[in-house]
Amino acid sequence: NCQTKEEVHKIVRQQNVSFIQFWFTDVLGVQKVFSVTPSELEEGMTEGMGFDGSSIEGFCRIEESDMIAMPDPTTFQMISWRPSERPVARMICDILNPDGTPYQGDPRYVLKRALKKIADRGYTFYVGPELEFFYFISDKSPEFLDRGGYFDGLPVDVATDLRRQTIFALQEMGIRVEYSHHEVAPSQHEIDLRYDESLRMADKVMTYRTTVKEIARQNGFYATFMPKPVFGENGSGMHTHQSLFVGDKNAFFDGNDAYHLSTMAKHYIAGLMRHAPEITAICNQWVNSYKRLVPGYEAPVYVSWARRNRSAMIRVPMYKPGKEQATRIEFRSPDPACNPYLAFAVMLAAGLKGVEKGYELPEPIEEDIFEMKEKAREEAGIRSLPGSLYEAIVAVSASELVRETLGDHIFEKFVENKKLEWDRFRTHVSRYEIDRYLPML
Ligand code: GLU
Ligand code: MG
Ligand code: MG
Repeated sequence: NCQTKEEVHKIVRQQNVSFIQFWFTDVLGVQKVFSVTPSELEEGMTEGMGFDGSSIEGFCRIEESDMIAMPDPTTFQMISWRPSERPVARMICDILNPDGTPYQGDPRYVLKRALKKIADRGYTFYVGPELEFFYFISDKSPEFLDRGGYFDGLPVDVATDLRRQTIFALQEMGIRVEYSHHEVAPSQHEIDLRYDESLRMADKVMTYRTTVKEIARQNGFYATFMPKPVFGENGSGMHTHQSLFVGDKNAFFDGNDAYHLSTMAKHYIAGLMRHAPEITAICNQWVNSYKRLVPGYEAPVYVSWARRNRSAMIRVPMYKPGKEQATRIEFRSPDPACNPYLAFAVMLAAGLKGVEKGYELPEPIEEDIFEMKEKAREEAGIRSLPGSLYEAIVAVSASELVRETLGDHIFEKFVENKKLEWDRFRTHVSRYEIDRYLPML
């Protein structure tokens, strides 16, 4: 791993790198890339590279559109899926105003700002996201590549090989993979990364999504992080395991507690629960995200926590009970089509609000909530997550917590964009309506 500009230059020379890609994301988490030649690299790393911000979703207005992409040398990596002859490298950028100050519309800055607050108090935010995805024949229709199910192994199919190649590609880029497996739905897969500090992890999530898609493309297939591509099958989640450490001490751990959770961890869960509806628009940002958050597919619908129950929104994994380093909470509602910088920032903010205000943690609900009658749920005070992008927009629009975390600029751009998205969907006449209403009405 490089630490300095000088080290970057050295590798670029030694390995005869032909292009250095500068990466950043727009407000929706769509990867943006431009390529810099080695001759421009010195200037690019000192002064950054200028670009027109007015064409980037959620960035700025035409009259103030000059933006600077400043690469972070510690993110330098050779891109493993580009040719080894005259190879290509990449760095992840921070977006700056022409005067060198951080740009308010940069999602990476949102996470950095959120982390700065806890770093000042000595905390590190660790996350371990589990991104699920599907392989299809092409991006034209959701046609499966394999018919496997959860943990299915043999016979080795084409998807197994895609996954294998992807893991090697990730590892070559310095991304540590813990394990991978076939998921519940046909053609659905999961590759789990070893947990890391959250800013590093958001960078890794971007690299992961690009790498999964690129390896599929090179093999003539298509990989998608669309939350619910096939009706009647499980959707794809991005369960996010979270913990706060002080140095190498896990602040979520208390060996004497029945759940091995510290008081802080309990307040954190309570914070996530209280604010879950308002952060859902960020963690589940598409119309399609809400087709996943329905009963019966291992995705949460209700605001609840539990130790084992997979219908819960938050789970406290008990694989290795009492092991300090492994103690964490798992937030199960986010999906892998979110902007990871924004999603990690709002999760942290919600949890910390619970810690700050000392929110009381309700009792865990270990029974299957999907099986509970509506009345029983009401009596137990179990709230629902937003049922549609519209409901999520209503909840986020009123959220001081999200506005504060994203900053006014991104908050307003995001809400505006999502209202448009909802309107496009709302006015569309779908196949479902034709099939159902035309013969009937
Ligand atoms: N695919 C499920 C989801 O939508 C999760 C399955 C699992 O427990 O890994 O969240
Ligand atoms: Mg899974
Ligand atoms: Mg999980």
